[in-house]
Amino acid sequence: MKIHEYQAKEVLKTFGVPVPKGGLATTPEEAEQIAKDLGGTVVVKAQIHAGGRGKGGGVKVVKNPEEAKQAASDILGMDLITPQTGPGGQKVKFVWVEEGTDIDRELYLGIVLDRAQSRLVIMASQAGGMNIEEVAATTPEKILKEVIHPGVGLLPFQARRLAMDLGLEGDQIKQGVAFISALYKAYVATDCSLAEINPLVVSKQGDVLALDAKLNFDDNALYRHPDLLALRDTDEEDPLEVEASEFALNYIKLDGEVGCMVNGAGLAMATMDIIKHAGSSPANFLDVGGGTNVERVKNAFQILTSDKDVKAVLINIFGGIVRCDLVAEGVVAALKSMTIDVPLVIRLQGTNAEEGAKILENSGLEFTVARRLQEAAEGVVKAVKGAA
Ligand code: GDP
Ligand code: MN
Repeated sequence: MKIHEYQAKEVLKTFGVPVPKGGLATTPEEAEQIAKDLGGTVVVKAQIHAGGRGKGGGVKVVKNPEEAKQAASDILGMDLITPQTGPGGQKVKFVWVEEGTDIDRELYLGIVLDRAQSRLVIMASQAGGMNIEEVAATTPEKILKEVIHPGVGLLPFQARRLAMDLGLEGDQIKQGVAFISALYKAYVATDCSLAEINPLVVSKQGDVLALDAKLNFDDNALYRHPDLLALRDTDEEDPLEVEASEFALNYIKLDGEVGCMVNGAGLAMATMDIIKHAGSSPANFLDVGGGTNVERVKNAFQILTSDKDVKAVLINIFGGIVRCDLVAEGVVAALKSMTIDVPLVIRLQGTNAEEGAKILENSGLEFTVARRLQEAAEGVVKAVKGAA
């Protein structure tokens, strides 16, 4: 789960990460008032989940409350297009107005889980700011890393080494070490999957603080953090993924043309591979999980077919615990109560597979029944090509 910058800053502040003071505004007048209260130069920042807002015109440094009001009125309601949004951009509902910082240096600090090493890695770079992706691509040696042992956690010497890597000097080193330790503590305590401070700045006054903050949380750990779950902003998520999560279905949007209904993530992977192999690609996959009753299948169909990219649907279900004849009855009942206007291929395998196939074939409904996965994939790809 992603959250907004201002929310990330509020979370990080509770762990002792230094962030500028600020306030949230939904109208230009509120932005003006916050700027008045803060005094002096302020920064008006669009709050959307995507990064790269600076490049898209979503971050404005202004000198007084009147300019803050103007900047907020320019930014609020705009469809902000950044390298990380879709081509249509993302609508800005509120802006974060924070006190301006005199920047001396822009640095980068990030923490991610390195799955290959099964360890957290802290990354630091002196080349922080809006072009960090380019730095990573062209001069990766400018990004320094510390690998954290899960048994002992971040060790003081590692935090000091990172602070040195960042080119901090004198009292800044102490501030840097405290910053890195606080960010690490926040990452672990809130079950992050990513924490990124870009830029981490050294101000002209010599203070080290977070000008931007990005936190992503591990969805599987969110049940432990109701306070964080409350920060979710579903307006920033794919509407079909949100709908699926309401039905406890796992739905992932992809960019091909075959809608996939499967049970289990492994089968989803295999299904997508074989669709690719047969010459098309998945528009999405929807994992209906273990219990495949009529209601779930109906909800799944609804979500799959409201995805405009879907030109044909493949149902590929393995009956392990759940029996194929029951799945088939569920599918038939669901299809009798709704209309689907794209071709459908169904393949059920596992316990009572043959009984399942018979139920499907005798239903009188219009779809293709496949026994083998290869046959199912070829059938659905042929249907896609036929529709095109
Ligand atoms: P992003 O583009 O979505 O990553 O948004 P950021 O919050 O990182 O802001 C983009 C850029 O705006 C930063 O890299 C800074 O250069 C600049 N910026 C942000 N806050 C301030 C500030 O308080 N003072 C000044 N001078 N620049 C700022
Ligand atoms: Mn940034």
